[in-house]
Amino acid sequence: MSLPATERANLLGLARPALEGFVAQLGSRPFRARQLMNWIYKRGTSEFTEMTDLARDFRARLAAQAEVRPPEIVRVQRSADGTIKWLLRADAAQAFEMVFIPEPDRGTLCISSQVGCALDCSFCSTAQQGFNRNLTTAEIVGQVWLAMHELGREAAPAGAQAPGEAAAPLERRVTNVVLMGMGEPLANFRNVVPALDILLDDFGCDLSRRRVTLSTSGLVPQIYKLAEVSNVALAVSLHAPDDALRNELVPINRKHPIAELLPACWHYLDEQNGRSVTFEYVMLDAVNDSPAQARALARLLKGHPAKVNLIPFNPFPGTRYTRSPAPVIQRFRDELLQRGVLATVRRTRGEDIDAACGQLAGRVIDRTTVRLGNKVIGVAVQP
Ligand code: SAH
Repeated sequence: MSLPATERANLLGLARPALEGFVAQLGSRPFRARQLMNWIYKRGTSEFTEMTDLARDFRARLAAQAEVRPPEIVRVQRSADGTIKWLLRADAAQAFEMVFIPEPDRGTLCISSQVGCALDCSFCSTAQQGFNRNLTTAEIVGQVWLAMHELGREAAPAGAQAPGEAAAPLERRVTNVVLMGMGEPLANFRNVVPALDILLDDFGCDLSRRRVTLSTSGLVPQIYKLAEVSNVALAVSLHAPDDALRNELVPINRKHPIAELLPACWHYLDEQNGRSVTFEYVMLDAVNDSPAQARALARLLKGHPAKVNLIPFNPFPGTRYTRSPAPVIQRFRDELLQRGVLATVRRTRGEDIDAACGQLAGRVIDRTTVRLGNKVIGVAVQP
C-alpha cells in the first residue's frame, strides 16, 4: 500500500538503530539499513529506484512507505566572500536558515536546530522573533544532506576562489558542521541527539567528532545529559566574566549561573575524553570588552582546558549594541593570551548577505493581512 507523502517515514530522521527497526518492519534484514544509508549519505541518492543492490520488492515497499526528503529551499544568497546562505521552509509561513562558510582548510556548515529561540539573549537577532518550534531530526540532518547535495551539484572547478581573494583555493565540501544557527540545540535534545548520531555514523555523514560542534547558551542539566550520549565538540556561549553581566546578556544564566556552568563543561570533557571547550564571547562595545573584564575571564578559565573565541558583534536592525573596535578586541585577546588562556578572534563572514553569527532570522515567508469581523489576522500565503 502506498502512503500519502505526509505519512511516509522520512529516512533522514532515522539514526541507524531506528532505521534497522524500520527496515525489519518492512520485512527486510536489519543489515540492509547500512546499505540504505550508504546510498543516502555516501552517494547522495534520494530515489529508491536508483538503489540497485537492494531487492526490487524491498525498493517498492520503501518507495510506498518511506522517503528521503530534505527541507525545501526558499531562497539562496551568495556572499562576495564565498559564503552561501539558504533560507529553508519550515511550513507555509515560517523559514529557517543555514550557512556554508568555505575556507582554504575547511568548509563549515552552520545549521539551525529550532525555528526561532526561546532563550532571549539580548544581542541575538534570532531571539527577537521568539520561539516558533523545534526542528525535527530529519530537518536537522536534512540541512547537512541538502548542503552536501547542493555543493556537489555546483561542481566548482578545482581551485575556485572567492572573488577578490588571491589566497589559497577554498574548500567547497562540507568538512565541519556547527550547530550555531538558529535555536538552542540543547532545548531540542530529543531531536538533536539522533541527528548528531547520524552526522557521526560511519554509514551516515561520517564526520569525525571533532568536526561536529554543538554550541549552547548553557543549559546545565542538558550538558550533563549530553555527556552520557554524545561526544561531539562543545562550545558554550559565555559572553561575560561575571553573573551580573551574564544575567543581562544571556538570561538563562539566572537559572544556571557561571559557577554551575563551568563544572558542567569540565565534566563533559572528562566523560567524553574531549580536548577543550570553546567559550564564545561576543565583543560588545563598552559592555563586556574592557581589559579588566578580560582579566576576570582569564581568572575563570586559567588552568582549564578552554579556548576563547572572540566574536565581533554583528549588528542587526533594532539592536542597542555596537561592535567593539578592532584594537579593543586585540587588547582583550592579548590580556587573555598573556595569562595563558588560548584565544582567537572569529573572522566575520557573509556580512553582505546577513549570514554572520547572530544575524540568522527565520523570516516569515510572506504574510497577508486579512480582516475577519473586527479582528485582523495574519495569513501566510505561498510565494
Ligand atoms: N543557542 C546556541 C547556538 C546559536 S548562536 C548558543 O547560544 O550558543 C551561535 C553563537 O552566535 C552564540 O555564541 C551566540 O551567542 C552568537 N551570537 C548571537 N548573536 C550574535 C551577534 N549578533 N553577533 C555575534 N555573535 C552572536
